Amino acid sequence: MNASTKPSRQTAARRASGRRAIFDVAIAGGGLAGAALAVACAKAGLSVALVEPRAPDAGEGKAEGRQAGGPERVIALSRGSRDYLDELGAWAAIEREGVAPIREVHVLEPGLPPRVRMRERDAGVDALGYVAGNESILRALYAAMPDAVTLRSPARVEAVEPGEDAVRLTVRRLGRGGRPSRLSCRLLVAADGTESRVRAMCGIRGRGWDHNRFGIVASVRPRLPHQGVAWECFRPAGPLAFLPLDAARLSIVWTLPPRRAAEVMAMNDADFLRALEWDAGEAMARRLGGLLETGPRAAFPFEFRLAARLTAPRVALIGNAAHTLHPVAGQGLNLGLRDVAVLADALARARAAGRDVGAPIVLEEYSQRRWPDDVAVAAFTEGLNAVFANDLLPLKLARGAGLACMQALPPLKSWLMRRATGLAQAPALAARAGKGA
Ligand SMILES: Cc1cc2nc3c(=O)[nH]c(=O)nc-3n(C[C@H](O)[C@H](O)[C@H](O)COP(=O)(O)OP(=O)(O)OC[C@H]3O[C@@H](n4cnc5c(N)ncnc54)[C@H](O)[C@@H]3O)c2cc1C
Repeated sequence: MNASTKPSRQTAARRASGRRAIFDVAIAGGGLAGAALAVACAKAGLSVALVEPRAPDAGEGKAEGRQAGGPERVIALSRGSRDYLDELGAWAAIEREGVAPIREVHVLEPGLPPRVRMRERDAGVDALGYVAGNESILRALYAAMPDAVTLRSPARVEAVEPGEDAVRLTVRRLGRGGRPSRLSCRLLVAADGTESRVRAMCGIRGRGWDHNRFGIVASVRPRLPHQGVAWECFRPAGPLAFLPLDAARLSIVWTLPPRRAAEVMAMNDADFLRALEWDAGEAMARRLGGLLETGPRAAFPFEFRLAARLTAPRVALIGNAAHTLHPVAGQGLNLGLRDVAVLADALARARAAGRDVGAPIVLEEYSQRRWPDDVAVAAFTEGLNAVFANDLLPLKLARGAGLACMQALPPLKSWLMRRATGLAQAPALAARAGKGA
């Protein structure tokens, strides 16, 4: 989170105004999903409290062994996510800070010729996706947040008491002499990430596993221009992704087992670049003409979590609190933004009809509309990782045949493209916005 976005929103008046009211919605977690929901709900006229523990200048949470200055983590946004961020009033600011369009995606395995090549013109779109910095998306969302949002930060939700008409929260201000205070809302939204305490306090289990892998994130400058191509190299240890970052640089997510990740994190830049070139394989080295420079690195643990359900009485889960996916297909936030869009739509319609926004019927609608997509994308992502992160000969042959088949069969490739770009979800977003079905 950035110092330039939050303090202006933390006026004493706003905190005081939030002290005794019953909010329509309280959101635990002001990461990307929680901040987007706060904007969407406030724009729909709902009263919103947003509770976020990170101090304005604390940066991102869970990276291990982050180097000084840390890398700017980036997110590949689908077309659907871009349009939704635009609708929230955040896209123009994200674009001003820098967005790299993805013109082509190449999927390959080191040592073999490129298997699948997806191009924007095959999908009939101006870009297959858009790469933007996490922090710039967050800054844009906080800047787009209506003043009516009551922000409690740095603070965290410590206890939850669901009642018949409202949920009572205990919120502790962090820092010296931080005292607990109370807050009531009709609906509590858990947007507090993978290890969601709110999810646990509401008795919802988060099932899944650790991948026993770390993703090393860094920027690199290749000798040859990347021309807007994103590369996904599947290796037995896990995928290695290169995403366009700006005209000259690529952002990498390099999946490695823990011990190797620690070694790579400790390398000097020259050794790091050589090790990366070696792992990416000869074909990549030829296409990029070698790697010249790299920036600071960070390593993120990869895990999979899926909440056993999306709701509890007067509680809804969104974003990583509902599902944490392997980033192989770049779907985590894209899925989270679809949670946000559908929940905000259900709440806005409940409010317009004069209904209680925390009523079971509203939560049931949210769950029914989101659960199939959440489960399908989780299965697709975990399946993709399981099939590719494996060196067994039969699987290797099967996936080689599968990829060759995909390249040769336009309908199959088009299906994959629509999933990857989020176009498959566009009708759902249109329906939510009242423009479609
Ligand atoms: C290396 C990597 C690459 C990725 N690439 C992509 C990509 O290309 N495309 C994509 O769509 N997704 C990608 N993802 C996934 C994406 O980053 C996440 O899905 C997304 O950031 C989750 O946002 P969130 O707001 O749900 O959770 P978080 O970002 O985890 O936010 C949770 C927030 O809750 C707060 N919190 C914690 N406890 C409490 C409490 N008790 N009370 C109140 N607040 C609390 C935290 O401080 C935090 O701000 C990637 C992930 C990784 C690790």
